[in-house]
Amino acid sequence: MKPDSQSPILVEVLPLGGFDHALTYGAKPSIFAYLKVGSLVRVPLGLRRITGVVSSLSPQHSPPKDKLRFISALVQPEPVLNTELVRLAKWVASYYACSLENTLGAMIPASVRDGMEPKTRRMIQVIKLPAKDVSSLFKGSPKQAKAYALLKEMDDEVIDVVQWGKKEKFSSTVIEGLIKKGLVKQTFSEIHREAYADEFSQSTPSLVESIPSLTHEQKLARDQIASDLQSEKFNTRLLQGVTGSGKTEVYCQAMETVLKDGGGVLFLVPEVALAPQTVDRLRARFGRKGEEVVVWHSHLSAGERLDAWRKLARGHARIVVGARSAVFAPVQNLRLVVVDEEHEPAYKQEDSPRYQGRDVAVYRAYLNAATCLLGSATPSLETTLNVEKGKYAKSVLSQRIDGRELPLVHLVDMRREAIKQRNTPILSQSLIEALRHRYENKEQSILFLNRRGFNTTLFCTECGEVEQCRDCSIAMTYHRTDHYLHCHLCGYRKPAPRICGNCQSLEIRKKGHGTQRIEDVVESIMPKNARIVRVDADVMIKKNLFREILSDFRQGKIDVLVGTQMIAKGLDFPRVTLVGVIDADLPLRMEDFRASERAFQILVQVAGRAGRGDRAGEVYIQTYAPHESCIQFARRTELEAFLEEELEMRKELYYPPYSHLIRHVFKGRGEEKTRFYAEQWRKQLDNAQLAGVTIKGPAATPLAKLKGYYRFHLFYLSASVTRCLSQIQKVREEFPIDKEVIDFLDVDAQQVS
Ligand SMILES: [Zn+2]
Ligand SMILES: [Zn+2]
Repeated sequence: MKPDSQSPILVEVLPLGGFDHALTYGAKPSIFAYLKVGSLVRVPLGLRRITGVVSSLSPQHSPPKDKLRFISALVQPEPVLNTELVRLAKWVASYYACSLENTLGAMIPASVRDGMEPKTRRMIQVIKLPAKDVSSLFKGSPKQAKAYALLKEMDDEVIDVVQWGKKEKFSSTVIEGLIKKGLVKQTFSEIHREAYADEFSQSTPSLVESIPSLTHEQKLARDQIASDLQSEKFNTRLLQGVTGSGKTEVYCQAMETVLKDGGGVLFLVPEVALAPQTVDRLRARFGRKGEEVVVWHSHLSAGERLDAWRKLARGHARIVVGARSAVFAPVQNLRLVVVDEEHEPAYKQEDSPRYQGRDVAVYRAYLNAATCLLGSATPSLETTLNVEKGKYAKSVLSQRIDGRELPLVHLVDMRREAIKQRNTPILSQSLIEALRHRYENKEQSILFLNRRGFNTTLFCTECGEVEQCRDCSIAMTYHRTDHYLHCHLCGYRKPAPRICGNCQSLEIRKKGHGTQRIEDVVESIMPKNARIVRVDADVMIKKNLFREILSDFRQGKIDVLVGTQMIAKGLDFPRVTLVGVIDADLPLRMEDFRASERAFQILVQVAGRAGRGDRAGEVYIQTYAPHESCIQFARRTELEAFLEEELEMRKELYYPPYSHLIRHVFKGRGEEKTRFYAEQWRKQLDNAQLAGVTIKGPAATPLAKLKGYYRFHLFYLSASVTRCLSQIQKVREEFPIDKEVIDFLDVDAQQVS
């Protein structure tokens, strides 16, 4: 719209402050000149002043002249979103059934939204004038004269005021004086704060080595990806490679191709704290070529995030590595998206917007006509099915690099061990001996506890049987309050049995072991000088402690590392020759239909930590259910056979990936009221007779009370998210809920508990 004295210029703005629809504002020509779609502006709303994103420069709606309010400021010089990211935001909001405002909140870092200024240094440069012209200016200020003389010797050099003043012992008033007299030019330069450029990065010198020669399979994968990139069309490829097969090298080669053509790269890892090696390696590889690798994750300070964001938005950096939220990073000219360990549940965001980072990554590649690479040793069933349907291509790396062997895997039957030791031991005799043997040989060991969520299911220590729901084929949860077993998908319940339904044994147990307990046991069985360190959630809270421990472990300062899932992923320790899995079937006792998939993935990942150096590795898997097929498949690393069996089971039960799972949670402070609304809602749905939607529930969540809220949930299984949501939302609009009960939807839910 042209500025004209009669009618003001109008702009459409999405306010980021409790309003979920666009509003029209006026713009003064001086501001309008700098506005683009995606610009962040400050606007008045009621009595407040809030920020908003410009969504259109030619709005449909124009408010009456006397009601029109004006944009008060432009917050950031460059737009915070480009057209592509605005489209992505709209898709995320509609697919994941969350507000556009929440989505934009997740996409634009808080420091950018708040208009934080970059940190700057004050720089000066001398303006040379002939001595006779300036001598009169220095009357009564000999210090200024001296400073000016010194500066003149430095010619055109631009210098840091604070540093120079300190070194030459001039106060700031002296320099101010020179600036005022026009003898010195003042400028500001931005300081960049960089995450992870610390001493721990230097503990991996081997990574700076020259580029390794590729195996035949790596070359093939590289060439296939190169032709994907060349097509300049959207495509997705699964890079399926056993642990230690050199997937990262294949990613690196693809990145090189993209960077050479001036493209940008988005590299996602499940959690940055778990991927310092990847970050170090990419920095070593691309840093040498003057390419900056920006790290993006939730632990960045506001300043670090602002700097990272600016570098990408301005195209000064073209590579970003980060956890799921990095999927929204403003990479320019995006040509390649890498999702490493694509099967990891950590890609799902559990708060609003509840998006699946991997799937958003694929969609973002689609919006950019870019290539998306999904890497894993144990691909998810969702991705596997997409390959089967021909939606995704696939490259396979079946061999470890340098011809290293996969480790030798022993299954230890803990039922027999329990009889032998006359109790339920934490460590089997064979694992104890293996640990001591490694210590004598100066080799390292990892002990892995597969702990996650709540261990409240019942299982038989004599036959390994777990009580399952008759309809849902998931483990039932034991509730202490009523001594009942509950199914947390459909709500079915029955009294907790006292004897095993399979073998009539009385040895039914509820609890697993914690890492602390395991550490104590390991200390008691190892020689006094052995160094044992535990890594669990408590350690992860401290920003650098985990990296410090990993660095010590890599340098051989630790003999046994005890930990949970965080030590299972992607880590490469050449001196580890023994991995012990304390309780392999723990995930099978979780109330989750993905239990087998998780158990299989974790076992393969953990086993992959052993024998990555010159020495062969050994793995001990302790289990009460050695007959379980996922454990058998994991032991022999039979990926294809496992996937085939698991897909068949999911198909039979109409679980994902054959359907989409949408979880609908009702939560409130009052238990009865919350249950009532969940049950009424189910009745409403039954009356509405939804097409193509299978409904389960309501059921109480396994942790029935969380942060003071009682929670009940329903599950919808449907082939189409869009069709399912539109029906649900229509019924929901006509269903009044008490304001003390809150409900929300979780599309493609990972958490069913
Ligand atoms: Zn039994
Ligand atoms: Zn059930």
